[in-house]
Amino acid sequence: MSFQIDSRLPDVGTTIFTVISQLAQEHNAINLGQGFPDYAGPELLHERLEHYARGQQHQYPPMTGIPALRQRVAEKVANFYGYTADPEHEVTIVPGATEGLFCSIQACVKPGDEVIVFDPAYDSYVPAITLAGARSVHIPLYAPHFQIDWQRVKEAITTKTSMIIINTPHNPTGMVMSEEDMQALQRLVRETKIVVLSDEVYEHLVFDDQVHQSVLRFPELAERAIMVSSFGKTFHVTGWKTGYCIAPAHLSHELRKVHQFVTFVGVTPIQLALADFMQACPEHAEQLPTFYQAKRDLFADAMADSRFTFTPAAGSFFQLMDYSGISNKDDLSMARWLTTEIGVAAIPIGLFYDKPPESRQVRFCFAKEDETLINAAARLSAL
Ligand code: PMP
Ligand code: GLN
Repeated sequence: MSFQIDSRLPDVGTTIFTVISQLAQEHNAINLGQGFPDYAGPELLHERLEHYARGQQHQYPPMTGIPALRQRVAEKVANFYGYTADPEHEVTIVPGATEGLFCSIQACVKPGDEVIVFDPAYDSYVPAITLAGARSVHIPLYAPHFQIDWQRVKEAITTKTSMIIINTPHNPTGMVMSEEDMQALQRLVRETKIVVLSDEVYEHLVFDDQVHQSVLRFPELAERAIMVSSFGKTFHVTGWKTGYCIAPAHLSHELRKVHQFVTFVGVTPIQLALADFMQACPEHAEQLPTFYQAKRDLFADAMADSRFTFTPAAGSFFQLMDYSGISNKDDLSMARWLTTEIGVAAIPIGLFYDKPPESRQVRFCFAKEDETLINAAARLSAL
């Protein structure tokens, strides 16, 4: 072929989630790889979508989202975090958290800037930073606790730093940031022009009576933060690709300038259904920690006699497991082998590091029916 362009993303391939899910399908493996539930969302939510699918509202919703849904989101963050968000100017409904993250980065980061990310970093961040013409500055988090070294963050901040991206609860490690972490972050960004992009898609998946430390709980952080969440995780409907961004009016204004030219809007009937459901069942999110903690514990118990070792996840629906007692393979080979030979798909975590550590860990998703988890654990425990 004679015609070729210089790639803007020469180092990027197809995401590991897609690769492993395809492999899982080809080999009929139990898919504990890509993060999605194998159960449906709440019955009423599906009933509302069916209702709106047959109704009259099928044209573009407002660019910022259906007003009732923005209102429900504002009520939710007031209830959970004591944060008053103006639904008109501070809440934006987006077609998936991925879109919200991408638009936030394009809106706030300029060519030549530096953006601090914590490795292992969710795979959509770095390509978005690269496309903005900026440089990612990687701060690694290490097993077993994956805590943030704030001294290292302090040393990494320069006059070019325009954004720090945090993710709590953290994918893929299950780490949750503490109140002290948030205070340390608050101290570091005080009197800088750094925007905090806070990926909180697993905000309701925090276990053992811990409290989710949203940026919205910290006024000095909230005034410079964009908080991004996903209805997909909270309502078990990842394929509905709907999320929201909360940010002060001036930041939301910039975010919306990008959002309007990336996708413009999210899907109308889905937003209407979510708004109805949130009004009817505000308790749904409150019940999630118990629901997912039971799944985490069931999977942990079922794996107790295996040769994998692990510290139970503090949050998210992911469990990292160390397989060094079983194999010397690198984690990508191990994840492939588990998928194709053992029949349980897993995600390697080295790919989410700029400089992968020596660890032998893979990620399993426990957002699955109990029976799925028990069957998968039986296969893994036989190793
Ligand atoms: N951030 C993290 C940490 C995630 O795990 C996911 C899951 N897909 C997303 C963002 C994207 O969420 P969405 O599917 O709503 O785009
Ligand atoms: N967030 C999901 C995970 O971590 C995957 C979403 C995707 O495939 N892009 O597994």
